[in-house]
Amino acid sequence: MEENLREESEPPQKRFRCTQKQWNDWNWQISNRIRTIKQFKEIFNIDPSTLKLEEVIKKYPFAITPYYASLIKKLDYTDPIFAQSVPNVFELEDSKYLVDDPLNESEEMAVPFLVHRYKDRALLLSTTTCSTLCRFCTRKRMVGKKECHISSKRLEKIKSYLLQHEEIKDVIVSGGDPFTQENSFIEEILETLRPIPHIDIIRFGTRVPVVLPQRITPKLVAMLKKYKPLWINTHFNHSSEITPESIEACRKIIDAGIPMGNQTVLLKGVNDNSETMKELCRNLIKIPVKPYYLYSADLVRGSEHFRTPVEQGINIMADLRGRLSGIAIPTFVIDAPGGKGKIPILPNYYIGKKDNLHYLKNFEGEEVIYPD
Ligand SMILES: *Cc1c(COP(=O)(O)O)cnc(C)c1O
Ligand code: SF4
Repeated sequence: MEENLREESEPPQKRFRCTQKQWNDWNWQISNRIRTIKQFKEIFNIDPSTLKLEEVIKKYPFAITPYYASLIKKLDYTDPIFAQSVPNVFELEDSKYLVDDPLNESEEMAVPFLVHRYKDRALLLSTTTCSTLCRFCTRKRMVGKKECHISSKRLEKIKSYLLQHEEIKDVIVSGGDPFTQENSFIEEILETLRPIPHIDIIRFGTRVPVVLPQRITPKLVAMLKKYKPLWINTHFNHSSEITPESIEACRKIIDAGIPMGNQTVLLKGVNDNSETMKELCRNLIKIPVKPYYLYSADLVRGSEHFRTPVEQGINIMADLRGRLSGIAIPTFVIDAPGGKGKIPILPNYYIGKKDNLHYLKNFEGEEVIYPD
């Protein structure tokens, strides 16, 4: 079954029966996502009944951009791209801790589609659309089911809430993926938020540079540029996602003066070991995207098979420290169940205090004493 969808001998355009021009067009990529069993069979040439896809997608839809599918090197769940995007029968096996909305976002909305958890920050859920549906998505309850974005009327309501809350300095535009929408919609959001005087920064959370890099067009970037200061956080989980196309997408954004960070999810079988994580973080700073958070997988239904012991995350963090540039090291966090916020988890470097002395441990495990 081993087969490289990106072999030199067969460019992906041939497999997807399209021209180079279509391939480079993000609208073509969105319209031609792999979303049905029939398409799956045609493109991957695997019998989907062996994977029991039909049962899984009744509950959780799937969508993969042709571009992201072309990164698959091996047609099974040991491939990091395949594992992240192809439905898995294990999604139907939940443990008792898993829920639909682990971060309690639906309950906590200040106004529809705005989560105001931290005093100074608010999270705007702008759309339910993603170009590629990640199988481990925290927002599986809403993403990909009915594809839409928030209306102008709703945006106005969000604006009045924000105007009344001067403590909010930072708005995170998330979804779904806001960059799956047309420039005009993204600009409408920016035109809504930018005039609010107390909002310092606007952030976008988007996986488009990873799963649909064609979307980062010169026009989009020229539009974004008018609304700085902006920050963009993207979502690379594995080095095999760092391609000439994704590097170019990040370069365009960064060249426009918009800094980029990365949020990775710790995923069993994809990146749950030090070597893979080290390679990812090292490659990210080269393109140059700052590793920001490493998330322990949320307790969301349909993702049990991706969950990794917390100790594994701590061990990876201990392995990174001292062996990788400080700027390449993300903060490992657990986004606490019930919407209690992000909790950083560190290997234990602080042993304790006795008299005036602090007992510490360095990256090599040596004890260090530091007086007050
Ligand atoms: C993650 C998150 C934020 C942003 O947190 P930072 O630590 O500032 O990146 C804001 N609001 C909500 C609801 C979040 O989940
Ligand atoms: S890009 Fe984010 S919101 Fe969209 S499916 Fe993936 S994890 Fe979920």
